[in-house]
Amino acid sequence: MTIELKNLTKRFGDLTAVDTINFDVGDGEVLCLLGPSGCGKTTTLRMIAGLEYATEGDVVLQGKRVNDLPPRERNVAMSFQFYALYPSLTVAENLAFPLYAEGLSGAEIGQRVKRVSDTLQLGNILKRTPGQLAEGEKQRVAVGRSIIRDPTCFLFDEPLSRLDVQLREEMRGEIKEVLQELSRPTVIVTHDQLEALTMADRIAVMRDGRVEQVDTPHNVFQKPSNLFVAGFIGTPQMNLLPATLTATHGDGKASFSVKGGQSMTIMVDGRIQELAPGTQVTLGVRPRNLEISRESADDGLSTVIDMVEPMGAETLIHLKDGHQELRLVTDWRVPHAEGDRVHTRFPPGVTHVFTEDQQVLRTQ
Ligand code: ATP
Repeated sequence: MTIELKNLTKRFGDLTAVDTINFDVGDGEVLCLLGPSGCGKTTTLRMIAGLEYATEGDVVLQGKRVNDLPPRERNVAMSFQFYALYPSLTVAENLAFPLYAEGLSGAEIGQRVKRVSDTLQLGNILKRTPGQLAEGEKQRVAVGRSIIRDPTCFLFDEPLSRLDVQLREEMRGEIKEVLQELSRPTVIVTHDQLEALTMADRIAVMRDGRVEQVDTPHNVFQKPSNLFVAGFIGTPQMNLLPATLTATHGDGKASFSVKGGQSMTIMVDGRIQELAPGTQVTLGVRPRNLEISRESADDGLSTVIDMVEPMGAETLIHLKDGHQELRLVTDWRVPHAEGDRVHTRFPPGVTHVFTEDQQVLRTQ
């Protein structure tokens, strides 16, 4: 079973909410649609469900084009959040509720309730009402209710957004396990990158109706394909530094000058050879990849510590050189103080180079 989106586009009057997107979701795969508010995530989900019709392009479910089918005939399960249980019904009745409209026999309903309650380990609370459940149990029942119809795929829109922080953390892991066991394609909309990074097998990062990158959580973080994804994924945000390439020295070694005139020679991707000296680029480096030391060298920039911000196990250090600011995350023991001048080193292989078209320069 699969979901395939082919050049899918949705326009509302002059506004293109979803712009020629393509991706597919395989059996048992969890794909998270991640992006800022208004980028078209919900509209994409609604087109898969049949709640919106596509302006152009195709929605293909299990190999069949379903563009013209109403939601009921697509047999997808879309749920907006994992809660909203009926307080006066028992867990078993809550689970069975979506099946009453389907005209199934009592025996069939009983079997489905058993299967879902086995998967979600709800067997010993089936006779309780929601008021007698712990929060985590309520969530599992709500998940159960959205999967009991045995649909061809699952679609969730911000399923965890109403939960408190602790419960969200618990649910993230739990939901991933459950969804993997169910072996259906699943699409989850979220604007929370931590949620996407922990729950997804793959993430589709969206901006302004377009898909910027579809990849594993590891790759969207470690190998962003463009400047937007690089800046959007990861906290604290990746340092993005405008620079001019001044020379290449082979094997990915290159010299850059930055605003204010400082220059450095660092190891980047081997494809840097393709650029001519004088080319404007943006250098991207994650705060956890920078290093500071007292000795100056040419593999980084001379900076002053502007602010030291403890974050528990780690410390966030804000660095300045008069023209640009850098963020660096280090061990909580910081042998430096605010106002110290330090050398900020760009270790080999951690700096991404983005060209003027905002795409990354990377050897595959
Ligand atoms: P959020 O995270 O805020 O829900 P989103 O990424 O889910 O955002 P959508 O809800 O898909 O974004 O909206 C994409 C764009 O389409 C927005 O500019 C929105 O205002 C617009 N839009 C959505 N539905 C309609 C509609 N029925 N009529 C007109 N414009 C709409």
